[in-house]
Amino acid sequence: MPQPGEWVVMVRYGEIAVKGARARVRMEKLLVNALRESLERAEEPGARITVSQGRVIIEGVTNLEEAARAAARVFGVKSVSPAYRIEFTGLDDLVERAAEFFEFRVKGRVFRVRARRSGVEGFTSKDLERELGAELLKRGAAGVDLEEPEYTAYVEVRGRSAYLYDTVIPGPGGLPLGSEEPVLVLFSGGFDSGVAAWRVMRRGSPAHLVFYDYGVPEALEVALEAAKTLADNWAYGHDMKLYVVNFRPAVLVASGLVAPSYRTLVLRRLMMEHAVALAKRIGAEALVTGESIGQVASQTIRNMMLISGGLELPVIRPLAGHDKDEIVEESRKIGLYDISKRQVEVCGVDSPPTPRGDPPAFRSEYEKVNDVFLPDPVEIKLKHMSIEEIKAKVGVKR
Ligand code: ATP
Ligand code: MG
Repeated sequence: MPQPGEWVVMVRYGEIAVKGARARVRMEKLLVNALRESLERAEEPGARITVSQGRVIIEGVTNLEEAARAAARVFGVKSVSPAYRIEFTGLDDLVERAAEFFEFRVKGRVFRVRARRSGVEGFTSKDLERELGAELLKRGAAGVDLEEPEYTAYVEVRGRSAYLYDTVIPGPGGLPLGSEEPVLVLFSGGFDSGVAAWRVMRRGSPAHLVFYDYGVPEALEVALEAAKTLADNWAYGHDMKLYVVNFRPAVLVASGLVAPSYRTLVLRRLMMEHAVALAKRIGAEALVTGESIGQVASQTIRNMMLISGGLELPVIRPLAGHDKDEIVEESRKIGLYDISKRQVEVCGVDSPPTPRGDPPAFRSEYEKVNDVFLPDPVEIKLKHMSIEEIKAKVGVKR
């Protein structure tokens, strides 16, 4: 009698697989760590995770669908499939057992078989596709269509194990969090900086966030909610923090002293300088913003130079080449849209900046505010507090 199979979650990772051996081992560790946290959040504390032959296999979960969906939100993961694993002795045995599994799933439907194989001798993927396809036709499938089937029966053979599945859930791709150095994201809670934060995290950089509070309660509240959502849904394997800076002293001084057409730029530079100091203190090695070239007058190439030229840390702008509608679409995909759309635009000034700021004029305006005192930021460990606790800590009333 053959052993019964068992349900597992199979996780595929893309880019890690092409790294050198040392980097790969380190990244696989990070990936497994992040997966473990995602499974704890999905209330699967009993899940067992193993890495073998370029796949992560999760065993012992109680809710396969939930576990698979959680794993599909881990950076570095290319795709995830709930799969039925069987052990087999040879091609005939494999075809028989796979046919048993797929029989009622393909009954009356047009289907195809997709097979992959590694570490096994004696037959090819094509042999398996052909034989299993023929067997399923015998057992009541309606027909075969390789281009547009109603159902795809996937078989992945690894040594003497075969994984049978029909669902492929795409993951975010990228690299596991912690593969790259930490960064500090200037985070407003709007569409752009949320997507920018997600993008650098997808490249493996653990992001911390800083919000400059202009004194508009609605803006603060949205920023807190967006930060909390990002941390809960995507920061697996990383203890994401948010820093809230009381920026009102700067806004007050600037609106009294700085020429209106330079106010936004001057405040932005002040933010950047402050963020560099904060980044150094917390060990972040770059700043990240949601700026996109030419999106608004403060984001022309010229004004970006005034805002960030000569800073001691690099400024990464993951959205530099993106159109607004692409950014909004991505915000939807990562689950921030409904929060970010509530964000109000606050620039601390009524008139827009001049699109081609003049360096000497900018410098003399900047000197009027550059020694303004900003109190220490409030530090929030996003994953350790509820949104109510977070709001209470920074004084949002409601
Ligand atoms: P977003 O959608 O991120 O709010 P935006 O299109 O509104 O961006 P701006 O308001 O010009 O553009 O801001 C440009 C970038 O500056 C933002 O993407 C963000 O990185 C940073 N930024 C702006 N306001 C704040 C703030 N109050 N706190 C922290 N960072 C900010
Ligand atoms: Mg904004």
